[in-house]
Amino acid sequence: MTKTLIPNEFLVKIDHIRCRRCKRCILNCGFGVLNFQDRIVADHSKCVACHRCATFCPEGAIWIERNPLCFKPNAHWTPESIKAIYKQAETGGVLLTGMGNDRPYVNYFDHLVLDACQVTNPSIDPLREPMELRTYLGSKPNSLQVETVETKEGSYALATRLSPQIKLETPIIFAGMSFGSISLPAHKALARAAHLSGTLMNTGEGGLHRELYPYSSNIIVQVASGRFGVNQEYLDRAAAIEIKIGQGAKPGIGGHLPGEKVNQEVSQTRMIPAGTDALSPAPHHDIYSIEDLSQLIYALKEATRYTKPVGVKISAVHNAAAIASGIARAGADFVYLDGFRGGTGAAPTIIRDHVGIPIEMAIAAVDDRLRQEGIRNQVSLIAAGGFRHSGDVAKAIALGADIVAIGTAALIAMGCRLCQKCYTGNCSWGIATQRPELVQRLDPEEATERLVNLLRGWSLELKEILGALGVNAVESLRGSRERLRGIGLNQVELEILGVKPAGR
Ligand code: SF4
Ligand code: SF4
Repeated sequence: MTKTLIPNEFLVKIDHIRCRRCKRCILNCGFGVLNFQDRIVADHSKCVACHRCATFCPEGAIWIERNPLCFKPNAHWTPESIKAIYKQAETGGVLLTGMGNDRPYVNYFDHLVLDACQVTNPSIDPLREPMELRTYLGSKPNSLQVETVETKEGSYALATRLSPQIKLETPIIFAGMSFGSISLPAHKALARAAHLSGTLMNTGEGGLHRELYPYSSNIIVQVASGRFGVNQEYLDRAAAIEIKIGQGAKPGIGGHLPGEKVNQEVSQTRMIPAGTDALSPAPHHDIYSIEDLSQLIYALKEATRYTKPVGVKISAVHNAAAIASGIARAGADFVYLDGFRGGTGAAPTIIRDHVGIPIEMAIAAVDDRLRQEGIRNQVSLIAAGGFRHSGDVAKAIALGADIVAIGTAALIAMGCRLCQKCYTGNCSWGIATQRPELVQRLDPEEATERLVNLLRGWSLELKEILGALGVNAVESLRGSRERLRGIGLNQVELEILGVKPAGR
């Protein structure tokens, strides 16, 4: 076999004096890096820096370092681009990756700052005053009509027939992640945490495992191009239905779950033969126009007797605003916009890193367009794509989002180390894997608790932010771009985001 030219990205360092040879590191590594030959030895070439071994070594005798000088420094030919060429010269294939875009594009959230009350319009103390984070997912009417009901008290009743609404106790939901790409304990933890927190999880395109049935009222089910797991029961057991057209990490292309991850449980849930690759086509083969999309939206509404919101997920791309307008006019109750930092179980690196636009720009463009056309209330706007903390959430809502969906942050809460090797199925943390010995590492109880804590912490921080802004409901922040200022942005960027520069 020809020797690979790819140098090791990481070096596994072992302190053999402190090491007590318990071999726990060998057992914990999902990537087969470590071995015992009278002492622990490492095959550095396989290490992905998932840090499972370092976390579980009782002596702190193992750590991972970045290989310091794999290549001579070159500002144009970075180590990543040289390694990619070596890999393709050796394999002739498409390079895959997991998780979201990690390129150093401008992060607009980091160039936006929030306002705060001083002297006039006093701020509000969330510890003393009630703060409202409750949010409703669903299409809203532009006006309400009430009628007098003939009772002794002469009370009023709502005459306007409202579209189905889902009550959320926080404007943060979990993003779509399929069973198959992630493990059953991870899926269960997301469902239970959503249930306990009064919010929603999303099945992704992998069907709904029967163990998630008790949490139906907190689950968005996805109808994607592969139609995996879609039948009447699947639709009936959902709180809302999402037609997935695109995903932020891989706009314009389909999905591929390798056959090794399609075990008996995944096969039953997706309704495909075990061991076969689950291929999602790039387009839906029955959708080539807004009219076709409208037909599917109404078919799903008919199938569920108009009792659930039906929405459409798209990647944030150049003309997202026009597409979102078409989706609203096609009868959807919500638009789910996924920015280019959104995570994935597997995507071609070249697509993940070079296609799509940042979610900040997409939210602003879509919100503007829907307002200009007078159809903003027709849809709830869900934004996703690499939200890191409650500050990002608050800024997204101020830009115009109704709800924010988190995927990567939720996985990190469960233990993910962003090693980006989800597509290998070897996740040492039991998250992005179906290998039984790895899956059992993720305790769904503990993962649920961590997710609930994360949502609670972010929600409390959101209340703090609202209090500083002098408003007592998240509703009052929605689309309030006058409460944002830009730092280090040019005039065009400020115009697209609809914010003034700091100091104005
Ligand atoms: S557990 Fe992770 S960090 Fe440790 S040797 Fe294996 S791949 Fe590397
Ligand atoms: S889910 Fe697992 S494999 Fe994927 S990035 Fe996180 S730790 Fe790595």
